[in-house]
Amino acid sequence: MTIEENVLLAPYTTLKIGGPARYFAKVATEDELVEAVRFARGLGLPLFVLGGGSNLVVADRGFDGLVVQIAITGKVFAGSASGSTMRILFQVPAGIDWDTFVAIACEAGYAGVECLAGIPGTVGGSPVQNIGAYGQEVSQTIHTVRVFDLEAHDFVDLSAKECEFGYRRSIFNTSQRGRFVVTRVVFEFDLDTLVRLNYEDLKRHFGDKPNPRPLEVYRAVREIRAGKGMLIDPETAGPDERSAGSFFKNPVVSTRVVTDILETLAPDEGTMPQWPTDDGKVKLAAAWLIEHSGFKKGYAQGRVGISSRHTLALINRTGDATCDELLRLRDLIVLTVEQRFGVTLAMEPVMLG
Ligand SMILES: Cc1cc2nc3c(=O)[nH]c(=O)nc-3n(C[C@H](O)[C@H](O)[C@H](O)COP(=O)(O)OP(=O)(O)OC[C@H]3O[C@@H](n4cnc5c(N)ncnc54)[C@H](O)[C@@H]3O)c2cc1C
Repeated sequence: MTIEENVLLAPYTTLKIGGPARYFAKVATEDELVEAVRFARGLGLPLFVLGGGSNLVVADRGFDGLVVQIAITGKVFAGSASGSTMRILFQVPAGIDWDTFVAIACEAGYAGVECLAGIPGTVGGSPVQNIGAYGQEVSQTIHTVRVFDLEAHDFVDLSAKECEFGYRRSIFNTSQRGRFVVTRVVFEFDLDTLVRLNYEDLKRHFGDKPNPRPLEVYRAVREIRAGKGMLIDPETAGPDERSAGSFFKNPVVSTRVVTDILETLAPDEGTMPQWPTDDGKVKLAAAWLIEHSGFKKGYAQGRVGISSRHTLALINRTGDATCDELLRLRDLIVLTVEQRFGVTLAMEPVMLG
């Protein structure tokens, strides 16, 4: 393992924004990870774990510590779960590309992750914010997550329950943020699970066709995502693909807030999308709130802007935008939505530096 100095982080992110890391190490094995951790400890440096950089905003001044890129790849092992002929476990190294694993599971005919096709990033990054799309969340198929515990300086297996998954959250991005490095994820599939389509775009795509196969859904999801600029193809990537995906989470508010908003809507503003949550609150669509605050798809502010195909994606239009420019646009959107609807939008990507 080599430890490089002053490595520009922008190329390691899908936004292509951000300054240098003081030190940078690409680790290919668990032993190399331990070695990198020792190096950081020895110099008293903060450590940041990098996957595919697809949910990351790096500050222009960079990061004064060690960035460890998880490049632990290798074979994906599949085998039956102990005591069951109906359940199969996939052991997947953290550095494997997420979509590659989804394709493997779908090609083998297992349902459970097909709606998460085309999400960029690594397998190790997937449990961190409990990635979700088109009615599916990765937590639904996670069996265990193998991690290096930076406090105990040891490897442990965390059960899905111990990861405390929720909407775009887990212990990895909340209570235990920065404590664990994911080195492997074990996924569990039931052999008799059929594909369930919960999302309108997908249901429309398949029309009356009953029980599409996982691989068919995988292809359909990628097609839908490509249409929204939510699929990164390095060959054809344009300005809409220089993003960190959805920049804002869908806010969850009280019913009182919803009533207040509905009272302010003009008749021509249509119906505000809203979904009840299990704890008696209401989830709103961040995209709808942003659009109804005056920001349309394709909105531009200098070198940054909003994707022409997806309101939630803030983009680096020209490829040479700065983090400060991006955060100014973020602040403008948050403030305008707050003034219009009294709802504060939270940023989804992780901020480094
Ligand atoms: C075009 C586009 C579309 C997207 N669509 C979706 C979507 O539909 N649904 C969705 O949920 N997300 C989506 N995302 C966001 C992103 O792809 C996911 O959050 C992804 O899982 C991030 O993984 P990563 O490896 O790129 O993590 P990074 O961006 O590198 O890191 C993100 C966070 O995870 C931590 N991390 C990464 N790897 C590890 C590890 N091995 N151990 C411990 N911590 C780690 C980092 O420290 C950081 O805090 C999209 C992003 C883009 C650019």
